[in-house]
Amino acid sequence: MTKVVKFGGSSLASAEQFRKVGDIIHAEDARRYVVPSAPGKRFASDTKVTDMLYACYDLAAKGKNFDEEFERIKQRYNEIISELGLDLSLEDEFSTVKSCFIGRAGRDYAASRGEYLNGIVLAAYLGYEFVDAADIIFFTDSGEFDPERTAKAASERLSKLERAVIPGFYGSMPNDTIKTFSRGGSDVTGSIVAAAVNADIYENWTDVSGFLIADPRIVDDPLPITTITYKELRELSYMGAGVLHEDAIFPVRKAGIPINIRNTNAPMDSGTMIVESTSQKPQFTITGIAGKKGFTVINIEKDMMNAELGFGRRVLEVFEKNGISFEHMPSGIDTMSVIVHQEEFEPKEQEILSGLHRNVHPDSIDIETDLALIAVVGRAMKSNRGTAGRIFAALAHAHVNVKMIDQGSSELNIIIGVEEKDFEAAVKSIYEIFVVHQL
Ligand code: ADP
Ligand code: ASP
Ligand code: MG
Repeated sequence: MTKVVKFGGSSLASAEQFRKVGDIIHAEDARRYVVPSAPGKRFASDTKVTDMLYACYDLAAKGKNFDEEFERIKQRYNEIISELGLDLSLEDEFSTVKSCFIGRAGRDYAASRGEYLNGIVLAAYLGYEFVDAADIIFFTDSGEFDPERTAKAASERLSKLERAVIPGFYGSMPNDTIKTFSRGGSDVTGSIVAAAVNADIYENWTDVSGFLIADPRIVDDPLPITTITYKELRELSYMGAGVLHEDAIFPVRKAGIPINIRNTNAPMDSGTMIVESTSQKPQFTITGIAGKKGFTVINIEKDMMNAELGFGRRVLEVFEKNGISFEHMPSGIDTMSVIVHQEEFEPKEQEILSGLHRNVHPDSIDIETDLALIAVVGRAMKSNRGTAGRIFAALAHAHVNVKMIDQGSSELNIIIGVEEKDFEAAVKSIYEIFVVHQL
């Protein structure tokens, strides 16, 4: 049996956390390939090493002095090394990193050093071999992840090793420069490694006891989801449930490897199993709730728009030409709404409005900003009547005005648009009606 285990930043933020990680790994012989993140926050107001590296590199890139900031990063590692009593010095590595900062090796290189250095420390602590992710994870010239080249190199290299530590978050470009995944990308590395070694399971260790039904920063003590399908998870991650990087399911999904989300601080909890499909009936009608702020709706009105052939295409063409992708597009007989990310839309606003006037000659265009979208996701919604009605009742009860509703054709999700100021209240009220009231 082979398990790939990924540990997030807070799981490796201090020597104390390293010890918990060591205990977890040693508890099962199958935990052979380990993917660490950079040291994260030790307490709420602490700074992640990744953020310290970005800030430090930004100074370096401006030609400013960054000695003090760099010293603080060194301290984070040296503290862990000395408290663990390791016979290891990173001084040579630190000098290399520093000269590469001065030589403007790039922001991605800078950020990647967080996991690289932590990987060296963890490998020394465990007595495992260290494998630089730059040697086995590849991107193409255009910066896309290169799955074929990676799969070949990673399985060739790792199959020769009984046990190894592979730092998360980065890989290399064809010209040998370092490139990272987007933030939270160590989850993706774990998934790639799991596929490469054909693992039986990919354990993703974090600071909560599984994928929770709602964001714990909004709902107090939400219950964990026992089993969730890849599809449901994708909907929730895409809509902002930050536990697992939204791209982390692709490599394992293809290989049929389940992911188990676990808590480093509560290793006895069984966490959440993420699987391709399951006959297990969910405990509640909904599997989870997630949401994001920062959307704008563009409402386009024109009499008889439905009779005008190609109207929708001409509307979307304007967005496409301006490089804006849309999130949702609910429509009525004489109205059509396009929902976009506010920060992408704002700089292009006037071009888009004039483009719409030219392309479809609307009677009116109206823009609403500061919208939040909430996704209510669940494989059981299909077979339970009245889900939308219950959502509306909950929102009405919480005095939340619903701006938009859109049900995905798979009946796996219902998307609700509310004003940003109502976002938290809306999530809480949906959690209450489907979970608290059903207990
Ligand atoms: P790691 O550093 O281990 O990768 P992350 O910070 O990326 O951990 O993800 C875990 C965090 O995700 C939790 O501490 C929690 O605050 C947040 N989170 C948001 N939504 C959810 C959810 N639905 N279930 C669990 N955690 C969530
Ligand atoms: N350390 C990186 C970040 O903070 C990657 C990760 O933690 O997964 O985004
Ligand atoms: Mg994460």
